[in-house]
Amino acid sequence: MEKTAASNFLETIIAEDIAAGRVQTVVTRFPPEPNGYLHLGHAKSICVNFGLAERFGGRCNLRFDDTNPEKESQEFIDSIQADVRWLGYTWDGEVRFASSYFQQLYDWAVYLVEQGHAYVCDLNAEQAREYRGTLTEPGRNSPHRDRDVAQNLDLLARMKAGEFAEGEKVLRAKIDMASPNMNMRDPILYRIRKVAHHQTGSDWVIYPTYDFAHGQEDAIEGVTHSICTLEFEDHRPLYDWFIAHLPLASRPRQYEFGRLNPSYTVTSKRKLKQLVDDAVVAGWDDPRMPTIAGMRRRGYTPSAIRKFCQMIGTTRSDGVVDVAMLEFAIREDLNENAPRAMCVLNPLKVVLTDYPEGKVEKLAAASHPSRTDLGERMLPFTRELYIDADDFREEANKKYKRLVLGKRVRLRNAYVIEAVDVVKDPSGAVLEVHARTIPDTIGNDPADGIKPKGVIQWVSATEGRQATVRLYDRLFNHESPDKGERDFMTHINPASLQVVQGAWIEPSLCNALPEQGFQFEREGYFVADRLDHSEQAPVFNRTIGLRDSWAEHGGSGE
Ligand code: ATP
Ligand code: MG
Repeated sequence: MEKTAASNFLETIIAEDIAAGRVQTVVTRFPPEPNGYLHLGHAKSICVNFGLAERFGGRCNLRFDDTNPEKESQEFIDSIQADVRWLGYTWDGEVRFASSYFQQLYDWAVYLVEQGHAYVCDLNAEQAREYRGTLTEPGRNSPHRDRDVAQNLDLLARMKAGEFAEGEKVLRAKIDMASPNMNMRDPILYRIRKVAHHQTGSDWVIYPTYDFAHGQEDAIEGVTHSICTLEFEDHRPLYDWFIAHLPLASRPRQYEFGRLNPSYTVTSKRKLKQLVDDAVVAGWDDPRMPTIAGMRRRGYTPSAIRKFCQMIGTTRSDGVVDVAMLEFAIREDLNENAPRAMCVLNPLKVVLTDYPEGKVEKLAAASHPSRTDLGERMLPFTRELYIDADDFREEANKKYKRLVLGKRVRLRNAYVIEAVDVVKDPSGAVLEVHARTIPDTIGNDPADGIKPKGVIQWVSATEGRQATVRLYDRLFNHESPDKGERDFMTHINPASLQVVQGAWIEPSLCNALPEQGFQFEREGYFVADRLDHSEQAPVFNRTIGLRDSWAEHGGSGE
């Protein structure tokens, strides 16, 4: 994968650890909770973790942080693995599960009790909150804090055996109820939750908290650099406390970087789930979703997403990143790599009255202006064609460089034509344009010296094919949809999807493979839908327009 000279603070830390001999082999991990699909923010975390391992010749694990069974499922476990692979990364060995360490974690909890560092507490949630204090006031010791070791061991064993109801007891670390860091005020290590787990079934009725699990999971796996986002900075003292108080073979360290917050986007699994549950979108992989599955279906490429993650850098601040940078990355990638093709979204028939009926001329056209390796395709040229209705006017000023009655235009990769007449319906709407072909103009200017005004795309009306084209745009029309005063759901862009049923496409596009991307000339970048596209019923999704219409007009629409 691409290496760059550009470095970030994490690379500096790791390079120093290696130079000082503190670390031999760099081991990182990506630790998603399987309670939703991965989104763009996770893509950033994946690129950071796998990228660092790659750069320093180390390893990166994929570990499911599956300590909250209620919201987790196999669907998410499967989608997360598919997404990481699709982004182009390979984890070290088998995929790992926090749940496979439950016995070890429990044994360590017993160890802490034996050492006098943990106790069973009977305060209910409300009492615990009162005892906890506030940011400005210290907490108070729980009345159960001084239970002796034997009693604590007995109660913990009985918690595990299912003798108590949910909420009746918890296991807490004995640290410091007066600590200015709330996370250190005797944090909870285990809760009773009588729910089955997707991996361990009904083996457990107590589950470890994130804080008690995460660092120990890192230690079990020999993770050297445990990289997370800034909201865990305040948890680091606790992370270190567990590492210091447990008999561990390895000592991972936690480092934090700023979350990726793209503009015009929400990246919270809870909110993304709401969009799915409320049917605002068609599913987690709806092409408007900032999920990896959605971006994939939209026609984003793994390399464009990786490039974006690299462009925005990795820093210790939580700023908003302009989503236009992601759009720039995909445009650049597709401009370089996507074959060109022609599609007419809003068809208007043109009849070349001088062109023989039934004749089909096969015109060769380069698939890409500079990439000769992408070859050519055949464009059938016929008497009846479609052009886009926006590309014709009966009258127009000089700025309009398309087809005008009595004037000429070049059909891309084909002849120059001249509009001679229009056929209208009773209401005056143009039904058909009649035109003539200027002879010998394939690759040449007209011999009479009257040059065409511009170049437009076209498709043969008799040899072309019809397709469904889905015009996607940004899902939100607010820069920070979930940071404003109103609910994020009120900022949905009503024009985020427009479905064109009767678009005309050049016939070669029927052979497009699902997920193959194209530039539809003058229209934008499109991808054959990975699920719905077939040769018989072609379906294309707009990935992105050719230009940033949001920057130009501050709104949607090309
Ligand atoms: P969400 O807020 O969407 O629920 P999460 O942090 O709860 O996300 P996890 O499955 O726990 O989701 O995340 C796995 C990893 O991805 C964590 O290390 C987390 O810090 C990281 N991550 C999640 N969101 C972002 C983001 N926006 N930018 C960078 N990293 C992120
Ligand atoms: Mg999380």
